[in-house]
Amino acid sequence: MPLKPPPLRNDCFALPPGVDWTPVDQALTMLRERLSPVVAQVTVPLAQSAGRVLAQDLTAHRANPPLPNTAVDGYGFAAASVGEGDITLPLVTGRAAAGVPFAGTVPPGHAIRVLTGAALPDGVDTVVLDEDCATDATSVAFRGPVKPRANTRRAGEDVEEGAQALPKGRTLTPADLALAAAIGWSNLPVYEKLSVGVLSTGDEVVPAGTQATPGQIFDANRPMLLSMADRFGYTPVDLGHVPDDRAALRARLDTAAAQTDLILTSGGASAGDEDHVSALLRETGALAEWRIALKPGRPLALGIWQGTPVFGLPGNPVAAFTCTLIFARPAMSLMSGAGWQEPTGFTVPADFTKNKKPGRREYLRARIRGGQAEVFKSEGSGRISGLSWAEGLVELPDGPQQIKPGTPVRYIPFGSFGL
Ligand code: AMP
Ligand code: MG
Repeated sequence: MPLKPPPLRNDCFALPPGVDWTPVDQALTMLRERLSPVVAQVTVPLAQSAGRVLAQDLTAHRANPPLPNTAVDGYGFAAASVGEGDITLPLVTGRAAAGVPFAGTVPPGHAIRVLTGAALPDGVDTVVLDEDCATDATSVAFRGPVKPRANTRRAGEDVEEGAQALPKGRTLTPADLALAAAIGWSNLPVYEKLSVGVLSTGDEVVPAGTQATPGQIFDANRPMLLSMADRFGYTPVDLGHVPDDRAALRARLDTAAAQTDLILTSGGASAGDEDHVSALLRETGALAEWRIALKPGRPLALGIWQGTPVFGLPGNPVAAFTCTLIFARPAMSLMSGAGWQEPTGFTVPADFTKNKKPGRREYLRARIRGGQAEVFKSEGSGRISGLSWAEGLVELPDGPQQIKPGTPVRYIPFGSFGL
């Protein structure tokens, strides 16, 4: 039976006493230290393994290439048997083609017709390219000197047999599938996909497609968060919506905890009268309210509900989106067996002006045009159109910064977050 790690301790998200506004990096370090993989190992066919996380190191069952072979169409011979200047060699009868080797031995001072990918026949270590040869039915002529082993590939020059080719924890790419196939794998040991539950909360929230009264808003977070989980390579689980009602929320979390590896809620995460997610987690779910020095974002409510981590995200779609990318994504990656993941950012000149205040990290909706980072016209965290407009985030450091056009800033494309 595959091993399944034990559930998390109830106090795993607790902050040290006296901690108030937590810097982003400190929050990330704590998540990194306290979470661990929760997924079992399974075997899947190679062709279905893209995007899955390797559960074991893959070593080469065979070398790539398995035999020395020719990299071009041409004529093969032993380099030691030819000299300099113009060279004419008699051709042996037959040829070597990819998958159809030449059975005999090529004597010294002779050459053989070879086609790309063919295993080098005995007696051949060097190949001259077609275009550098003149030939008739019985011999081939070319100009020396030739470099020994020219136009050939050594056995195992790409991967030696037994070498580690892909590490455990790797999220498999299409190129990895090519590599795994080449070194003899057909079924791969991967982790079960992390199942990520998504729950919306709030009396004012109704699902898209229903009749909304003027005071109601359509649920924007649930489709967004479900598709983010899907893009990250997890199994999204739609937990629906609950009103601001503690009993209903409790019942939904009970079902969800048994069904998923992690729960993302949105709304009701701060300390207001109708903030039932944080209230309930405080009551029974070992709430740790992390007041993170981050914009956009508010307290991130973290709890453990019957052994299942709950990320209580802010209700604001922009804040929910940002907190998911910055906090939930690396945490989920760790739980999924893929290890902690830092997005790759790029330093680019700003195409905007901003007086950034100290005391919190800021993420601006941004995109690159003409090699410069432009930001959305409004920083309002209710502006969903800005999320849709953006192609990445500009990350501004915790300290103050005076930004003018041309100032270097860090841009992280959404692709770097796996979106
Ligand atoms: P809350 O975190 O519950 O105080 O909500 C903050 C803001 O986000 C409020 O304006 C909510 O109406 C809004 N909000 C909460 N949940 C959603 C949702 N699922 N989709 C869109 N907006 C939401
Ligand atoms: Mg609310």
